[in-house]
Amino acid sequence: MTDITGDLSRLCIHTITTKPWPIEISIEKFASAEVGGISVWREALKGRDIKGTGVRIRDAGLDIVALVRGGFFPSSIKQNRDTAINDNKKAIKEASDLGASLLVLVCGADPDQPLEESRNQIRDGIETVLPLAMDHGVKLAVEPLHPMYADTRSAITTMKQANELAEYFNSDYVGVAVDVYHLWWDSALEDEIKRCGKKKNLYAFHICDWLSPTEDMLNDRGLMGEGCIPIKQIRDWVEKAGFKGFNEVEIFSTRFWSGDQDAFLENIVEAYINHS
Ligand code: ZN
Repeated sequence: MTDITGDLSRLCIHTITTKPWPIEISIEKFASAEVGGISVWREALKGRDIKGTGVRIRDAGLDIVALVRGGFFPSSIKQNRDTAINDNKKAIKEASDLGASLLVLVCGADPDQPLEESRNQIRDGIETVLPLAMDHGVKLAVEPLHPMYADTRSAITTMKQANELAEYFNSDYVGVAVDVYHLWWDSALEDEIKRCGKKKNLYAFHICDWLSPTEDMLNDRGLMGEGCIPIKQIRDWVEKAGFKGFNEVEIFSTRFWSGDQDAFLENIVEAYINHS
């Protein structure tokens, strides 16, 4: 074990980051590494008793930071939009069963229709599920995605758009998840983070790095310090805007998933201490 010392109480790791591990192993390994929190992907709960998994996580001493993910509201086909609403309602109930007070929304997009229409459907979708989210005490975090995903994954591609959407609702239950991977390039980022904090809409902070060159649009994210994102700078903006929550390591990487996960976890801890 390398000599790594530092405060890990605000380090959270997404289950997708160590995807080869079943959630039971991730819980055990994160807890023994003294990581403070875990964000749970719905895929990791497949076939599990959700309430029981929540108990297991809390018993291990980990905070449950968020359930990931809901969203994907837009479609040019009405039936698909209805299916999405039902799935988001299911996700809200799952978050509540797990004991997660936050559901991250990857909002979606449909290349068969204009982005503006997709944004309207995202707004309508959130409006429809919001009462259920409030009933269950589950907050919804809109995560703007990098514009390279604007065709199918998210019509919300900037912090400004996410702020506008959250401010439209003006609710304690709709806010924004800031992910450095998606937003680092934006010259308005500092101002929009300030605006988000001022409105009390800053709900989550995700970290990883942008590799250059990026070899895969989805599954080639880097560990903090490996790429070109000014992570410490963005974290400073987020904290100055009043954010006191977790720094969530969310890495999709075929390269890391194919390697030894114990070594990867050590590297995550080291990178978190030194490069975020
Ligand atoms: Zn993220």
